[in-house]
Order: sequence, then C-alpha cells, then structure tokens
Amino acid sequence: MPQLALIILFLISNLQFVERQEVRHSVSNEIIIRQTEQITDNSYELEVFVSFYCTCDKCCGEWSDGLDYLGQPVVANQTIAVDPDWIPLNSKVEFIDIYPINDKPTKTEYKKILFGNTYIPTDIGGDINGARIDIMEPSHGKCIKNGVLYALVKVTPQ
Ligand SMILES: [Zn+2]
Repeated sequence: MPQLALIILFLISNLQFVERQEVRHSVSNEIIIRQTEQITDNSYELEVFVSFYCTCDKCCGEWSDGLDYLGQPVVANQTIAVDPDWIPLNSKVEFIDIYPINDKPTKTEYKKILFGNTYIPTDIGGDINGARIDIMEPSHGKCIKNGVLYALVKVTPQ
C-alpha cells in the first residue's frame, strides 16, 4: 500500500511544519520581553530558536551550491545562518544553555552536539529572521535527528 505510506508521510511532514511555525512565534514573543543581556563590553547573551540545515535541495533550494552568503564554502558544525540585525556576520557564537522542546534529543545529548564548538555566522536565509540560528550539518539525516530547540548563546562580534 504505497499510497497509504505517502499519505502518512505527508501528514507527518505537515505536523512538523505547523509545530515549527508555532515555535517561531512563541520565541519572538519571548525575546521581545526578555531583550538581550550584555555580559561584557564586546559580547552579549541571547536566547535563540535553533534549527539545523544542510546543503541539500530541501534545505537550500536554488541556493544549494555549498557556498555561504559571503561566498565561502560552508563548514559543517561551524557555519550558521542568522538574521544579521540580531547577530552580526562573522561573530563568534557559543552555546551556554539548552532548552529542549521535544523529548529527543535530550539536554545531555544536545550538550554533546553543541557545547565546545564555536559557530560563525557567515550565512543568511529567507526563514532566518529575529533571534534564531540555523546550524549547518553534514547530512539531511542529521538535521532531522537534531530537531529544533531553544538555547542561550553568547555572541561575540569580531
Ligand atoms: Zn537538508
């Protein structure tokens, strides 16, 4: 029954889409209330919505050429896409705390994936507006597995 499988797949992908939209709205409301917190002269903390992308057609459409907004080759687990009004391009972005939205991955699993890395915003995206970051992954499977989350990050403009 391949049709049934297709219908189920369609339903699941639509559910995820609706969930992402709702998350995005609640994040933007929260950020308006919380503002950002300056921690040193040169860096600040920001609560962001985090998602993952790769260079595939699904994630990048016509921009799936493996190059970032600045024309450099993307680097998995380093390149991130941001809204430059919130996080300046070429800043250093580090994770401080994790607020999972779903049961999986767990907070501990997210810490293993995200802590200790320095992420560099050199990309932008049509959906990447406000306080959110989109992290480049080596495969689409990893993007799906990593899901979406909230996080507290430290931003150090260069
Ligand atoms: Zn992808």
